Amino acid sequence: MKAIAVLGSTGSIGTQTLEIAEEFPQRFRVVAITAGRNLDRVVEQILRHRPEVVALAEADLVGELRERQLQLEPERRPDPLPELLGGRDGLCTAAAWPSADLVVTGIVGCAGLLPTLAAIRAGKDLALANKETLIAAGPVVLPELRRSGSRLLPADSEHSALFQCLQGTPEAESARLSTGEPTPGLRRLLLTASGGAFRDWPPEDLAKATVADATSHPNWSMGPKITVDSATLMNKGLEVIEAHHLFGLDYDAIEILIHPQSIVHSLVELADTSVLAQLGWPDMKLPLLYCLSWPERLDTPWRRLDLAEVGQLTFRRPDRGRYPCMDLAYAAGRAGGTMPAVLNAANEEAVALFLREEVHFLDIPRLIERVCERHRVDHRSDPCLEEVLAVDGWARTATREESRRLHPAATPALPR
Ligand code: NAD
Ligand code: MG
Repeated sequence: MKAIAVLGSTGSIGTQTLEIAEEFPQRFRVVAITAGRNLDRVVEQILRHRPEVVALAEADLVGELRERQLQLEPERRPDPLPELLGGRDGLCTAAAWPSADLVVTGIVGCAGLLPTLAAIRAGKDLALANKETLIAAGPVVLPELRRSGSRLLPADSEHSALFQCLQGTPEAESARLSTGEPTPGLRRLLLTASGGAFRDWPPEDLAKATVADATSHPNWSMGPKITVDSATLMNKGLEVIEAHHLFGLDYDAIEILIHPQSIVHSLVELADTSVLAQLGWPDMKLPLLYCLSWPERLDTPWRRLDLAEVGQLTFRRPDRGRYPCMDLAYAAGRAGGTMPAVLNAANEEAVALFLREEVHFLDIPRLIERVCERHRVDHRSDPCLEEVLAVDGWARTATREESRRLHPAATPALPR
């Protein structure tokens, strides 16, 4: 029985992880959950999973959750009630919970950094969904991993695919994963991308893209931030940096391929030119299950892949003009040091501004480019945690400043 902690339990990754735990009660038990503001869902999860600890990002909500637990009829109320924690320290305590074997990081954004570090320092294995943490703080997270011996199992579907392909190559045992060292015998990584919500839109229409347009993904059902990242292709750019850290390849050896069907989840090319791929329906449950069960594979009753039903698998190179975020991400990855943290924070802030309808869709890459440009003079090549946190904060403020420069009137004329 594996004990798991789920950070961001109320989100898309978190709820799917809990569904897996429910489907395999003999294999997994949930001992810790953390969440943002959705108390209704937290109460429901407490009743179903009876975790030992629950941590809320906002300490102010802990009292309300305690009240709600006490209002439950005695026969439904878990006994003992879970320990309730709040705020940043509470999240970190839950992430390092002593009885947990594996921590699923489903918090969105750089907010996941400190809890992830707490889990690593406690020696926990990680199912890494929260890519922003590794991207912003690779130079801090990787040495901590080497020190603690924690294993980083990729939950992102592309990186899970790469990881699964490499399990079949004897040179690249899983132990090498996440050390940042090049994986022997591995020559190239091919990351597939659906192309997001606007892949078939004429480029001149992108200026009119609304929040509703950008948050409806053709293949995957995910949280709002990552769905917008898919539409800009920043998600794939961030995944290139994630792959660089996980598998130790240079940026020149990591490529993006548009694959509209989202069936081939990514591919590896080995030294002899052989190419291996992992296939499946676009469903995050499979990579999540593999993180939970690794190194074993569990027998599931899930819908099996039917390639005849899919019919066609197509691939094309991405159009760099349509997706400027891709080049911004490669440039930040190559610059290394603090630049990916700036790219990530500027992106988080720009996407939040877009979701609040304060900037246009095409402003997202403009804002990120300006903020990365401004950071060049202060760039640090080997930052410590405090420097990463400082540039993260700076980049968020700088993005809001640049947005006011772009749109001096309080509310820009936005498409509806
Ligand atoms: P989501 O918005 O659905 O859920 C985010 C979770 O984090 C929620 O539980 C929320 O309460 C919590 N949260 C939000 N802000 C927080 C804060 N400041 N402090 C603490 N907790 C906070 O997001 P998601 O789509 O599940 O994505 C989670 C992570 O997984 C992201 O990093 C994303 O890039 C990655 N990911 C998601 C998918 C997917 O299919 N959804 C696929 C690959 C990778
Ligand atoms: Mg992905």
